[in-house]
Amino acid sequence: MDLAFSPEERAFREEVREFIATRLPEDIRRKVQAGDPLVKDDYARWHRILHEQGWVAPNWPKEYGGTGWTPVQKHIWEEEVSYGWAPRLLPFGLSMVAPVIIEFGNDEQRARYLPKIHSGEEFWCQGYSEPGSGSDLASLQTRAERDGETYVINGTKTWITAAQWADWIFVLARTSQEPKKQDGISFILADMTTPGITVRPIQTIDGGREINEVHLENVRVPVTNRVGGEGEGWNIAKFLLEHERTGTAGIPGCRQQLESLYELLAHEKIGDRRLHERVAQVEIELEALAFTELRTLAAESAGKRPGPESSILKIKGTEIQQAISELALDALGPYAERHVAPKYFNYRKTSIYAGSNEIQKNIIAKRILKL
Ligand SMILES: Cc1cc2nc3c(=O)[nH]c(=O)nc-3n(C[C@H](O)[C@H](O)[C@H](O)COP(=O)(O)OP(=O)(O)OC[C@H]3O[C@@H](n4cnc5c(N)ncnc54)[C@H](O)[C@@H]3O)c2cc1C
Repeated sequence: MDLAFSPEERAFREEVREFIATRLPEDIRRKVQAGDPLVKDDYARWHRILHEQGWVAPNWPKEYGGTGWTPVQKHIWEEEVSYGWAPRLLPFGLSMVAPVIIEFGNDEQRARYLPKIHSGEEFWCQGYSEPGSGSDLASLQTRAERDGETYVINGTKTWITAAQWADWIFVLARTSQEPKKQDGISFILADMTTPGITVRPIQTIDGGREINEVHLENVRVPVTNRVGGEGEGWNIAKFLLEHERTGTAGIPGCRQQLESLYELLAHEKIGDRRLHERVAQVEIELEALAFTELRTLAAESAGKRPGPESSILKIKGTEIQQAISELALDALGPYAERHVAPKYFNYRKTSIYAGSNEIQKNIIAKRILKL
């Protein structure tokens, strides 16, 4: 595979590999390799190391602290992160709200928020979903009512990942009632220490603690915390979701897990011919998807923003992630309980979050196939 890369790109790969091998703290590497959950401090430490190196935000424009890498370099980076067992930084600040602030925010907002996202000083979470408004997100009921230069926010957000660690939340809230439900929604930033915000944990099926309910009760936020125009939140929400979906394919992570699976099958001499065939089939699908992702990256580098094609990456990538976790479970059978079984259960989430896979199929039908 590496033969297709130029000498400069191969040198870049070496540099990245060496950096991860020498700078990633050993305790974090061991946790990632073992599939153990990371704590906030693990993410924060690795974030600071990448920040010092200037490698924290490959997808930002260079003027705001982006790396200036080509799509191929980003691809190499992603691969090496997986091969070196480095954690992926949380996406809510770096890959979600930051591109929104860059695209739709004003200069004051860029100056206030971007440096602290870049340095890892402030953690973020995403306040989109509500009980009853997940796939049909535009039906959301959280209200932000104007009181002079303040919004007063009331509502409940649910399934909010990492809210227990977050310093800030970006919220979609209704600032006016309009005949069309997509209208009248605004994109508002709230400091998590604002009175009236309560975070309640939700335990996932594998026993983990990664998602929460966030209750907002008379939360007073300055109007200057709105990004973009009042009522323009739906447009921003869609922009962010397209960014969110490109990253969810998780191809290098899948490669790494496949490799572990191959090692397991060889070492333990387990699995019948049918199981080996299923593993090979998943690998073929993964390599095909890797090329689709490279095409998307090439289009992005030519200035195109990620479009409905990211839905294809989301569906196929998450199907492959789930298939690998299922194969590992089938291979180990009753011995799967320590890491493999919790991962299998945890990975059921991948076809639900970032817009369920059924919804992605609707997007493909409508926007690509024009059905
Ligand atoms: C682990 C995890 C983390 C999450 N993190 C966050 C987060 O940080 N922030 C945030 O805002 N949200 C988050 N979410 C919420 C996530 O975005 C929603 O769960 C998702 O959008 C689905 O919404 P829902 O759960 O309300 O299910 P529903 O919308 O009620 O859907 C139920 C089922 O019906 C199907 N369905 C619904 N409508 C259609 C349709 N029109 N056509 C075909 N099928 C349909 C769905 O595919 C699904 O299978 C997270 C979810 C999970 C599981």
